[in-house]
Amino acid sequence: MHRLIVIFFLLMFFSGFGQEQSIGILRDHKVKRITFSHHLGKYSVQADASTIGTLSSQQFVEVELVNGKLSLKYNTVPQGSFSRITIVANGNGTLAIKSKVPSVRERKYQDHFHISVVGGRMTIVNKVSMENYLCGVIESEGGGGRHAEYYKVQAVMSRTYAFKNKSRHKKEGFGLCDGVHCQAYHNMLRYTPEIRTAVRETKGDVLVDAKKRLVTTYFSANCGGEVCDASHVWNNSVDHVKPFIDTFCIHTRQATWTKRIPQWEFRNFLVKQYGYPIQDSVMANRIYTFKQENRKAFYIHPSLGIPLRDLRKKFRLKSTFFSTHPEGSEVVLEGRGFGHGVGLCQEGAMNMARNKFSYKQIAEFYFNGVRVKKYSKL
Ligand SMILES: [Zn+2]
Ligand SMILES: [Zn+2]
Repeated sequence: MHRLIVIFFLLMFFSGFGQEQSIGILRDHKVKRITFSHHLGKYSVQADASTIGTLSSQQFVEVELVNGKLSLKYNTVPQGSFSRITIVANGNGTLAIKSKVPSVRERKYQDHFHISVVGGRMTIVNKVSMENYLCGVIESEGGGGRHAEYYKVQAVMSRTYAFKNKSRHKKEGFGLCDGVHCQAYHNMLRYTPEIRTAVRETKGDVLVDAKKRLVTTYFSANCGGEVCDASHVWNNSVDHVKPFIDTFCIHTRQATWTKRIPQWEFRNFLVKQYGYPIQDSVMANRIYTFKQENRKAFYIHPSLGIPLRDLRKKFRLKSTFFSTHPEGSEVVLEGRGFGHGVGLCQEGAMNMARNKFSYKQIAEFYFNGVRVKKYSKL
């Protein structure tokens, strides 16, 4: 009987797993002790060469990192110490996962799990179908209630990212992590059915450039009415990300902002950090006055060498797309947009979706010279 189960596991590995995503979960936490409890479907637990048992209603396993090995309890009964634990769903399955040390809010993940120790750290890998993974990513990205066509754009962008970066964490024993470093994947399984529909209806769709290469998909909350040149943010330009005027986002929630900063604080930063020529009376008069009708990369004049992105970081501004004027003892910043402004503008895209543009039209509007294609046909 045991041999049959082992053969079954091997078949599972060699048949289905090749299609799956390999996602390192709970990577923002150094997990020492964790439980996997049954939520839906049926699971089998394997530890090294031993078959431990099945997980069904009310059952759970607890895994603890002890002296570089995985100590396993099956329904509170100690099973020993192992190098690798595998929890395989027989069909569709979902587990509730709760890190006890450190304590992290429970999450629910679908499909299979591998637990091992890599570089002294407990490494939990969710082997998950692309569809289930993308639903989790889109859910983590932002709440429900958005237009179906907008979810489709998100699905295409996240799928493109997943294919392009599938080996990003190879050395750590998985493909992508679950943090914002890759794509947030913090499953609660509360997503609306529209997300799953969007993922299904865009099955295999990715964004490619003219040479059919997968593109890097940037996005931010609101571009403020002008999509930003990538070189303003990262110093190097990106072929398919070009600046242009976006009128779809200018009357939306995050379209404008105002911030007031004490003049002494603003002035000190510019003088100390960039040697702003405060001794020059003309320049001293101009220090709080700056107009930005179209996006610029530098404050007042490029020759002063004060990148707007540095001001954004220092004063925690919503964007670099702002003008300034003095008022009393303060400098008033009147800004547009939220985020770096490069690539897809989320509020603009949502507005396009509401105005009956298709997901392909939206994606092709925000990225220059790209097409939506089936990954299998590249
Ligand atoms: Zn990552
Ligand atoms: Zn926009």
